[in-house]
Amino acid sequence: EPVLILRGVRKHYRRGSEDIVAAADVSLELYPGTLTCILGPSGGGKSTLLHLMGGMDRVSGGQILALGRDITRMKADELAAYRRTAVGFVFQSFHLLPTLTARENVELPMLLAGVPAPLRRQRAEALLNRFGLGDRALHRPGELSGGQAQRVAVARALALNPPLLLADEPTGNLDSQSGHEIMALLAQVAHEDGRTVVVVTHNEEFVAYADRVVRIRDGRIQSDEWRRPPQAAA
Ligand code: ADP
Ligand code: ADP
Repeated sequence: EPVLILRGVRKHYRRGSEDIVAAADVSLELYPGTLTCILGPSGGGKSTLLHLMGGMDRVSGGQILALGRDITRMKADELAAYRRTAVGFVFQSFHLLPTLTARENVELPMLLAGVPAPLRRQRAEALLNRFGLGDRALHRPGELSGGQAQRVAVARALALNPPLLLADEPTGNLDSQSGHEIMALLAQVAHEDGRTVVVVTHNEEFVAYADRVVRIRDGRIQSDEWRRPPQAAA
């Protein structure tokens, strides 16, 4: 059963008198336990789709059902709650707070959600240990390698245990080896936890980790290919 259903999704941006079609007519169903890669050239509309799925931006037309609810009809506060509780987001440039330690960065979403301190700490440490960062918990982002910083960012994205994990060019600021490590970790998070993981990239090198590859160009799906059958992925 799909966790996310996009039906005829459109997104237009105005730039002066220009009308930019970032999503033309996108229909797509995304499944749990699956790593879906969205590939395509720069400017093709990949980030736009991810932001729409994550409730960070509004559609111009069409419908997005997430966990059975139509997020395109949600009021601002409902949509904010959806973003906070259902969606983890990973950015190209990590977006960690430089003055906080790795553990404090992972704890932050839980702090804001009112999770009690002992539980916050326990869960942050468990996530950092899982991602091989047990000995980095008290380091600040500036003292971490890019690959380590991105693993902290993935841990933070999972702090509130969201069913959906969305990553926008998560390997874009990493060397090739760290990029492979992050992709392997994202696949693990899909397969072991049964999360719906969507990774935007323009890098063919990382297609190997995907259960499914959706190619986007000019705001439209060009191809949609399963590399592993959905039941094997789930
Ligand atoms: P990709 O992620 O594939 O590089 P984007 O989704 O970022 O593509 O962009 C798709 C198109 O929409 C591009 O032409 C981009 O310039 C435009 N675009 C994206 N976000 C905005 C915005 N906030 N305002 C105006 N145009 C935008
Ligand atoms: P990060 O590097 O941390 O992933 P980005 O620098 O990729 O973050 O963020 C790009 C942001 O700029 C997105 O929110 C996207 O919607 C917006 N954007 C992309 N293209 C345009 C554009 N042409 N005009 C305005 N905003 C844009």
